[in-house]
Amino acid sequence: MAQQFEDKFHRKFYYLRLSVTDVCNFKCTYCLPEGYKPVDGEKSSFLSLPEIKRVVKAFADCGTSKVRITGGEPSLRRDFNDIIHAVASTSGIDKVATTTNGYRMAKQVGQWREAGLTHINVSVDSLSPRMFHQITGENKFEQVMAGIDKAFEVGYEQVKVNAVLMNSFNLREVPAFLNWIKDRPIQLRFIELMQTGEMDHFFQKNHVSGATIRTQLLNEGWVPKVRQANDGPAQVFVHPDYKGEIGLIMPYEKGFCETCNRLRISAKGKLHLCLFGEQGVELRDLLQEDEQEADLIARIQTQLESKSVSHHLQDGNSGATPHLASIGG
Ligand code: SAM
Ligand code: SF4
Repeated sequence: MAQQFEDKFHRKFYYLRLSVTDVCNFKCTYCLPEGYKPVDGEKSSFLSLPEIKRVVKAFADCGTSKVRITGGEPSLRRDFNDIIHAVASTSGIDKVATTTNGYRMAKQVGQWREAGLTHINVSVDSLSPRMFHQITGENKFEQVMAGIDKAFEVGYEQVKVNAVLMNSFNLREVPAFLNWIKDRPIQLRFIELMQTGEMDHFFQKNHVSGATIRTQLLNEGWVPKVRQANDGPAQVFVHPDYKGEIGLIMPYEKGFCETCNRLRISAKGKLHLCLFGEQGVELRDLLQEDEQEADLIARIQTQLESKSVSHHLQDGNSGATPHLASIGG
C-alpha cells in the first residue's frame, strides 16, 4: 500500500465520496429549487467509467475502504450498475454505498445489489405525500417508499434514510418519523440544514439545531452508539424499543470536523478537501492512464497538507459550494 492519506492534524481518510453526475431530476427546496441547470452546457463531461476506476484504485491503494457514490442523482447515470461494479471490485474497498433520491430504487435496487452495492441511503424528507411533493417538487412519495420496501426484499438488512429538518416544512413530523422506525430496521438520519452559496433567507428561516432533537432523544431513553473508523459523520442513537436507529448530522456543532475521515471527488474530477471548502483541485489530467497513479497520489498527498482544521460555517461562510448537488453532499 502507498502511504495512507493523512493530513497534518493526523486525520486519516478511509472514506471517499465520489460524485458521478451533477444532474438531478428533483427540485429540493434546499438544494436545487429551480432544478438542475447545466453550468457550461457540457453534460457529457462527467467522469467516465475508466476515470472512476483509476481514481477509486488510487484511493484504495492509500487506505480508503469505503466509497459513497453520489451526485446530483447518481442513479441517473445509465452506467450506474457498471460504476457500482467497478468500485466494488476494486481491491481494498469493502463498503460501497450510494445516496439516492430513490426514484429508481423500486425498479433497480436488485441490480444494484447484484453489482456489489453494500449500503443504501435514500432521502425522504417527509412521510406525507403532499409535503414530500412540496419539498422535492416531485409527486413520487409512493414510488420512493416502494423502493425502500424493495431494498429489504432484495436482501438489505438496513436502509439509511436522510431527512433534512426544516422549521416551516417537516419539523412537526419528528414524532411520526420516530414511530415509522419503531418496527423497521432503518437508520433515520436527521441532517441539519446547511447554508450554501445560493441560500440565505431560506436558511435563516428553516435551520433547526440538531441539539434540540438530541436532547429530546436522550430524554426519551435513546443512547449513543460507539463509532467505527470509517463511519460517516452521524452521531447514532439506539433505543431498546425501536428496531430502527437515529443518526444526527450536526455540521454546526463544535468538534464536527475533528473526526473528519472523508474526501470528495466532484463529478468533473476535482478533489474537494471539505464540503465547504474551495473551488476544488483538478485531478482529471492524471486520470487518463493507469500509469499516472503515482503522480495522482502525489498530487492528492500535497493537497492534503493544506486541508484546514475545520469549515467556517459557523461564521456564515459556506465556501465556494453553490449547492450540495454540485459535490454530492
Ligand atoms: N440526489 C441524492 C439525494 O438527494 O439523496 C444524492 C445527492 S444529495 C446532494 C445528498 C444529500 O444531501 C441528501 O440527503 C440531501 O438531502 C442532502 N442535502 C442537500 N442539500 C442540503 C443542504 N443544504 N443541507 C443539508 N443537507 C442537504
Ligand atoms: Fe436532487 Fe438530491 Fe439535491 Fe434533492 S437533494 S435536488 S434529490 S441532488
